[in-house]
Amino acid sequence: MAKQIQAIRGMNDCLPGDTQIWQKVETILRETVASYGYQEIRFPIVESTDLFKRSIGEVTDIVEKEMYTFADRNGDSLTLRPEGTAVCVRAGNEHGLLYNQEQRLWYMGPMFRHERPQKGRYRQFHQFGVEAFGIATADIDAEMILLTARLWKTFGIDKHVRLELNSLGSNEARANYRDALIAFLEQHLDVLDEDCKRRMYTNPLRVLDTKNPEIQAVLVDAPKLSAYLDEESRAHFVNLCERLDAAGVEYQVNEKLVRGLDYYNRTVFEWVTESLGSQGTVCAGGRYDGMVEQLGGKATPAFGFAMGMERLILMLQTLECVGELRRDVDVFVAAMGDKASIQAPVIAEQLRNEIAGLRVMVHAGGGNFKKQLKRADKSNAVVALILGEDELAQGLITVKYLREEKEQVTLELAAVKALLATLIA
Ligand code: ATP
Ligand code: MG
Repeated sequence: MAKQIQAIRGMNDCLPGDTQIWQKVETILRETVASYGYQEIRFPIVESTDLFKRSIGEVTDIVEKEMYTFADRNGDSLTLRPEGTAVCVRAGNEHGLLYNQEQRLWYMGPMFRHERPQKGRYRQFHQFGVEAFGIATADIDAEMILLTARLWKTFGIDKHVRLELNSLGSNEARANYRDALIAFLEQHLDVLDEDCKRRMYTNPLRVLDTKNPEIQAVLVDAPKLSAYLDEESRAHFVNLCERLDAAGVEYQVNEKLVRGLDYYNRTVFEWVTESLGSQGTVCAGGRYDGMVEQLGGKATPAFGFAMGMERLILMLQTLECVGELRRDVDVFVAAMGDKASIQAPVIAEQLRNEIAGLRVMVHAGGGNFKKQLKRADKSNAVVALILGEDELAQGLITVKYLREEKEQVTLELAAVKALLATLIA
């Protein structure tokens, strides 16, 4: 036998049985953002490598070690998108959607990062992302956080997520803080690990979110970013907090929250959970007022977030919050005899025409009554319609209940339709 070819490590198939929950989650996400007036945008999976280097930043985990980068046949450097924000900005600039306009956009799809695969961390994973352009005020920051809070409620997991919030201030404020932080780190070189030492001059803020407990202990005494905030950023943050308070959204200010991408300023936030082990961030985002200009557009304020869909689904499963899933098949149609077998799909078409949303599977492949009923049972349908030659001649169909102890009935087609309509009501 030929050797089977396997999927790439960290890249998962999503099989029937799992796709139902994905569809349900996708529907809730779509409908929720639509209820806030956001529009979908779709963009390619492959982009110029420079796009990510320039936006995410050279000294970040993603660009330093996680990107799938390769040479196109003409030698251009291409990268499988590791995230959507930079691509959204690229598309917005290219099509003139951003300058002097307001846009509220969302996207959903696969992202690629070469990380060590583990629970909640994959090499191909999916993000649901939302971005708003052209709005500098904290009302939009609050709107997006409210939107995410609504999602947790809709999914029934709001008791299991916690909101962390911080302000990174203006670029200038951060530059001042940076100098103070470097001066502090220089006094503690003995405890810093290699990663932190390498980053302390290029990207010292990233040292703050090190997972190393010894370094964390030392950082307790590090200068605080909040002490360096510019007045406008401070007012922006106060306004955001006021809005969240008014809407009843709880949060914790975490001064060490800096996010792993360079492009953020002012607001940053994360929704974290204890129910996923170490991959605890389900959703993260913030303000990135500089990126549009940095990627060649006219200066445009922006705010957005991305949610890890695998992590969300893992949470729903772990917490048993998946809820009801739509049946794949409502009705299975079995036919006894050649004439009935020709009529079966015709009747099924009528049912689909007249009962919107009804899912009808018609037996195919021949076989006796017993075999057809086995298939009916396996289909998970609620009822089987049995078309027999004699009954059909009289315009009758037998309805057999597959999931409850109930006598089968033989009815006229009109009565069958009325009965089926109640199934999906
Ligand atoms: P982490 O700290 O877990 O590596 P991150 O800061 O790199 O996350 P972002 O770039 O902010 O993540 O992406 C937004 C969200 O996408 C994350 O909060 C997470 O839910 C999800 N995510 C990121 N990387 C992966 C991955 N490799 N596999 C699955 N989900 C991921
Ligand atoms: Mg990461």
